Amino acid sequence: TATPQKFEFQAEIKQLLDIVIHSLYTEKEIFVRELVSNASDAIEKLRHLQLTEKDIADDKLELEINLTTDDKAKTLTIQDAGIGMTRAELIENLGTIAHSGSKAFLKALSESGQKNANLIGQFGVGFYSVFMVAKSVKVYSRSWRTGEPANVWSSDGSGSYEIEEVQDQTRGSKIVIELKDDCGDYAQEWKIKEILERYSAFVTFPINLNGKRINTVQALWLRSKNEIKEEEYTEFYKFQAHAHDDPRSRLHFSADAPLQINALLFVPKDNVEKLGMSRLEASVALYCRKVLIDAKPKDLLPEWLRFLKGVVDSEDLPLNISRETMQDRALIEKLNKVITKRFLKFLEEEATNRADAYNEFYAEFGIFLKEGAALDYTHKDSLTKLLRYESSLTEKGKTTSLTDYVSRMQSEQKEIYYLIGANRATIESGPYLEGFKARNLEVLFCYEPVDEYVMNNVREFDGKKLTAADHGDVKLSDLPKAEGALSESEIKDLSEWIKTSLGERISEVKASDRLVDSPALATNSDKFMSPHMRRMMKAMNK
Ligand code: ADP
Ligand code: MG
Repeated sequence: TATPQKFEFQAEIKQLLDIVIHSLYTEKEIFVRELVSNASDAIEKLRHLQLTEKDIADDKLELEINLTTDDKAKTLTIQDAGIGMTRAELIENLGTIAHSGSKAFLKALSESGQKNANLIGQFGVGFYSVFMVAKSVKVYSRSWRTGEPANVWSSDGSGSYEIEEVQDQTRGSKIVIELKDDCGDYAQEWKIKEILERYSAFVTFPINLNGKRINTVQALWLRSKNEIKEEEYTEFYKFQAHAHDDPRSRLHFSADAPLQINALLFVPKDNVEKLGMSRLEASVALYCRKVLIDAKPKDLLPEWLRFLKGVVDSEDLPLNISRETMQDRALIEKLNKVITKRFLKFLEEEATNRADAYNEFYAEFGIFLKEGAALDYTHKDSLTKLLRYESSLTEKGKTTSLTDYVSRMQSEQKEIYYLIGANRATIESGPYLEGFKARNLEVLFCYEPVDEYVMNNVREFDGKKLTAADHGDVKLSDLPKAEGALSESEIKDLSEWIKTSLGERISEVKASDRLVDSPALATNSDKFMSPHMRRMMKAMNK
């Protein structure tokens, strides 16, 4: 039998380029980020070579990235003193779609047992993003290998390119972009400055724009904790979060499984939502190897963590990560899970080890934990543990956790009791507490409008039902009969008289052992609406 014949796929390169240029990215401006990342990679590789190689072209060049805008000529130029490319490398790296010289470099490194977490490139498509804005692109490049001639690679991104030798180009690459007519903004200094500050503020090497330094703050999250001074954290927080206060607390951690993560999270001093400002936006920024992916990623953290500031960096993310693709969504979900769990653990530790600081935090941000306990089913248990309430057994102003409440429960007590009221005095002066006090049953005091909603949604804790102490169904144990108590028939007569007098306004009159000092109390028999909710509805005129 004949051997099967082998064919190569035929690719219409022009169309493939078209797809890469027009559908990979949603924002045109990210071409700046991609080219700066490539420049940074090229310098990082050079720095690596300097450790082993003696013979490097133009060895004294500053390891910098320089951008220049020319508003008249409508060009943007970006130059780096990195490893540069030979003629063959220009063909291989820029003439082949989805070939990443950086990935090859990393692979060679890891085969020799080394690692480099600073290299950004990995997919071999970032460069082509420049054609979203370019009429034509010229890449002048001289390799670090001495004796190699310099070349210029040029293309208009429509399917072909030219290469020709040039004379005076120093080591590294210089990319000259002639902008499309409707992209002239990218030849404006303010525009490029804004983009660099957004995406590339933490790139390791100096970035200068028209001679002025852009990036002056370090990517603090990648440094090790014990080397970082308190002031550095504060300065970073202010810079990164555009904040004016000092952070209240922070969590700086890294993880390697299931995803590689470096995170630096801050809790601000104040809860600005509480001040009546508008709802906060998620603002923990997502980075990959110091390069911004998204300043406000929606799904990186659950809604109730929207008060957090800071940075999450993962080497495992593609720079062009997209909420639209399943695979990328799954990655974000994984990050979300790991970070949320870690932050909850942090809060638990705070509550145990720094109770005063935790209580101050809680007074300001507890409302977010309540929102989470009520709405985030996945983290409900951990969040409920973090809630704090005053109770009939605490002093005024002191709180208890539900865990501590449960530890004090009486042996026959099955439910956790709470009362809603404007403040301690209101609850203590009402009739509902008496029966519980007389039996030494602890009752949690809830002062905030959301508490009722929280209690109803949380429903139970540690297998014990959360029960409103003013609900009609509450059954309490018998107390010894008091002296001068009414007889059965007296009770019957009195009840009938009250029912006749009040008529339709009440549904039932019952003798109850829930009262000790007060003569009567109104309870709620409605399964769906508590007195508190009824008051709220009335206030809203419903
Ligand atoms: P990636 O960065 O993901 O590898 P790119 O399309 O951005 O993909 O770049 C393709 C390759 O071109 C890089 O891997 C690198 O080998 C080479 N390259 C791009 N820009 C430069 C540069 N400024 N200096 C040296 N090599 C570069
Ligand atoms: Mg790249």
